Amino acid sequence: MKTLKPALFYENTEDATLRCLLCPHLCLLKEGQTGICQARRNHNGILYSLNYGIITSQALDPIEKKPLYHFHPAQKIFSIGSFGCNLSCKFCQNHEISMHGAPDFNYLEPHYPCDIIEKAAQIANNIGIAYTYNEPIISIEFILETAHLAKHKGLHNVMVTNGFINPTPLRRLLPLIDAWNVDLKAFNENFYKKLTGGSLLPVLNNLKTIRREGNHLEITYLVIPNENDNPKEFNAMVSWLRDELGPDTILHLTRFFPHYKYQAPPTPPETLMNLYQIARQQLHWVYLGNIQLSIGNESHCPKCGALLVRRSGYFTEIAELDEQGHCKKCRTALPFIK
Ligand code: SF4
Repeated sequence: MKTLKPALFYENTEDATLRCLLCPHLCLLKEGQTGICQARRNHNGILYSLNYGIITSQALDPIEKKPLYHFHPAQKIFSIGSFGCNLSCKFCQNHEISMHGAPDFNYLEPHYPCDIIEKAAQIANNIGIAYTYNEPIISIEFILETAHLAKHKGLHNVMVTNGFINPTPLRRLLPLIDAWNVDLKAFNENFYKKLTGGSLLPVLNNLKTIRREGNHLEITYLVIPNENDNPKEFNAMVSWLRDELGPDTILHLTRFFPHYKYQAPPTPPETLMNLYQIARQQLHWVYLGNIQLSIGNESHCPKCGALLVRRSGYFTEIAELDEQGHCKKCRTALPFIK
């Protein structure tokens, strides 16, 4: 083991078996065993985080790439990722890091939280740190420490996550994370079971918690043909989002391309356009990603229709949106953080 960082969120059962309490899998780990996520191991009766400080990927990304369209639009954020994941999505786009464990990254030296802060603070025009690429939840020890330091430096913290976490660790993250992008993979337990190895209900509950606590939240829905593109089921999901999170919920519908173990044709543009129209009947802010169409790029004021933000790929131009997130034309307060 390269790093020996004791993990948080676990308990002893019997015979030196540990139960990890970080995510709903609640892995029971005997001596020497590693959890489903490949990032936590029972070593001599103590649970260790194996990916503490191991950075497999880093880049200065447009915030729109997370995707976050309503959080500091047109800005850039220093983005970091590690290895492992607590889900095993057959269509994972980052499987080179998410589906591998510590032995594959033994060549990497661990970073300390202060290293990351120092680097992030030195980058010109950087608004903060995004924990992304693989699943950040399973690096919670590193993120809690880094995000705490980032706050003191005036840097923002962003989580790009599958939302598959237990309530207690989620509550530890909430005061430190300024913006969340959560993947909602389907509105169907069978989909979660069959294609991700997880379950839907904890994700829905966590979305409600994040919204209730007032954190900035955007949701990504990857549209996979014949798996989660049923218009009726999709409409039920949109109704749930409107009723539980409100009509100002920000929803990104993204195009599927074949990856990893799921080889199927990309999502047809007509499917995306159809689901976009369905979502727009109940939600004010719906966007299309991984595709350039005539709709789903711009933000318009729900009250007067003014063009607020124009986007083309990762080029973003602020139009009738003022510094306080109001529409310049009708003065309506809008869910934008600038
Ligand atoms: S975080 Fe990892 S070890 Fe812990 S319960 Fe989830 S999958 Fe298992």
